Amino acid sequence: MVQRITRALVPTIKETPAEATNASHIMLLRAGFIRQLGAGIYNFLPLGLRVLRKIEAIVREEMNRSGALEVLMPALLPADYFKETGRWDLYGDTLFRLKDRKGGDYHLGPTHEEIITDMVRREVRSYRQLPLNHYQVQTKFRDEARPRSGILRCREFTMKDAYSFDVDEAAAVKSYETMREAYRRIFTRAGLTFRIVQADSGAIGGKTSAEFQILADSGEDAIVACDNCDYAANVEAAEVGDGPESIDPRGTLFSIEEVHTPGKGGITAVAEFLGVGASQFIKSLLYTTPKKELVMVCLRGNHEVNEVKLAAALGVAEVHLAAEADVVKATGAKVGYAGPIGFKGRVVIDSSATRVSNGVTGANKTDYHLKGVNFGRDFQAEKVDVRAASAGDRCPRCATGHFKAYKGIEGGHIFILGTHYSSKMRAVFLDEKGEEKPMVMGCYGIGVSRLVASAVEQHSDADGIRWPLAIAPYHVHLCTLGNDAAINTAAETLCQSLEARGIEVLWDDRDERPGVKFKDADLIGIPYRVTIGAKTIAQNACELKARTQRDSKAFELISLADAPERIAQAVHAAVRVEV
Ligand SMILES: [Zn+2]
Repeated sequence: MVQRITRALVPTIKETPAEATNASHIMLLRAGFIRQLGAGIYNFLPLGLRVLRKIEAIVREEMNRSGALEVLMPALLPADYFKETGRWDLYGDTLFRLKDRKGGDYHLGPTHEEIITDMVRREVRSYRQLPLNHYQVQTKFRDEARPRSGILRCREFTMKDAYSFDVDEAAAVKSYETMREAYRRIFTRAGLTFRIVQADSGAIGGKTSAEFQILADSGEDAIVACDNCDYAANVEAAEVGDGPESIDPRGTLFSIEEVHTPGKGGITAVAEFLGVGASQFIKSLLYTTPKKELVMVCLRGNHEVNEVKLAAALGVAEVHLAAEADVVKATGAKVGYAGPIGFKGRVVIDSSATRVSNGVTGANKTDYHLKGVNFGRDFQAEKVDVRAASAGDRCPRCATGHFKAYKGIEGGHIFILGTHYSSKMRAVFLDEKGEEKPMVMGCYGIGVSRLVASAVEQHSDADGIRWPLAIAPYHVHLCTLGNDAAINTAAETLCQSLEARGIEVLWDDRDERPGVKFKDADLIGIPYRVTIGAKTIAQNACELKARTQRDSKAFELISLADAPERIAQAVHAAVRVEV
């Protein structure tokens, strides 16, 4: 059945909706794919649902191909299971909680580790029943403090979550690698450009967690990736190699000199004033810990602190930049003039800053800096590794490539969970020797509805969306110009031939001007636009234009007889991606 646009809810909007700021939110609203029902809650209209279902289909095919088997767990969950692992409290306000008529505690599932662990512990007794990997495509609920960006970060969303159960760590790594490969195929087939990035700091070999980041300038996650090898990491987790200047020999050490730098509190201003580069600075930042300890962190002037690493290095849960008043009190100077020499308190120094020779630091005296400062000779501090990776750094893995910076949207995340849940919930089995052991688990998520928006973030231009063929709501957008019997007959014949070849057609049969129809076609972003009008009919032809070609305003005239086969070949070639 060809879908006529007059028989479907495809409410396009000309203006940019006031509440939307990012590309996918604007485009999905304007093109009539989604509508907001409440804060962070959306209706999927017909076109939006078709994209969602196509992504789900790819996910299911590749999960099944990897040997995982689908199950379905409820969205409405008794509180007992989250209480068993402590997450009933840990989740805080993010959990949607409710009571049934008898006063029992329930919640809506934000994730299902406990539920599947319970499912498996009731049935599995022996190592012979392992490994297992089960997945579901289910609606999840999280009461986000700030739902935003349309369906990128909302309160009700569709997720594919999978959970593996293995006899030991080595087997779990195998399951994890299988999922990693399945995910690579899923994201490739969906037509998304992505990087697999290291997501934890590598405490257990760095193999235990990876994010699938969809590259987009609007992404909230900062990523660095090597231009030579396949190392890529979330900046929060990235290992840090030497910066380009870190390997300078120290050379002759000068003696310390105090210089007057009136009103020059920032590094850029002082660097310019003294005629030296920012990397010549040993900048000093003051942080407070949860126990109100004040710690000075020294690092090169051109580097930034990775606060996750700093907290880990100090052995605390989190750190915050000290308030201005605390800085003034601790250093005796205005903000911008802090330095390690003479500072009475704990000082840590990033290892790359220990090699700065004849550096510049604040003098702990308003309007003064010190030149010729050398770590070890002039001050001592605990060496730590707390700087954030940045573009230009030498890659710590291959040691020849350099980091490039990217922005990404997290589309998938794979983890080895170990025995965290199985120990707490006693999901155990008897091994070959009859010994009782906890199962080793992995979990694997894909934000299915989020991928709809991510695809738009990556594939759109000023005119609208440019869907990758594999997940486009339809393959062909047919525009008929004028309500003429010959045109309509030609259109119907073409539709039948296309559908016989498995091509999905959305027919814009509205009584609208060509300009309106073409604008909507560009906005909706179906990969191929076919136009039939009086002019083309006169030549027994139609116009074919590809939306996916970035530069192409161009269209070609092809005969109505040849059109179905030509279009079918192009579509099938694009959907059949080798993965
Ligand atoms: Zn590398």
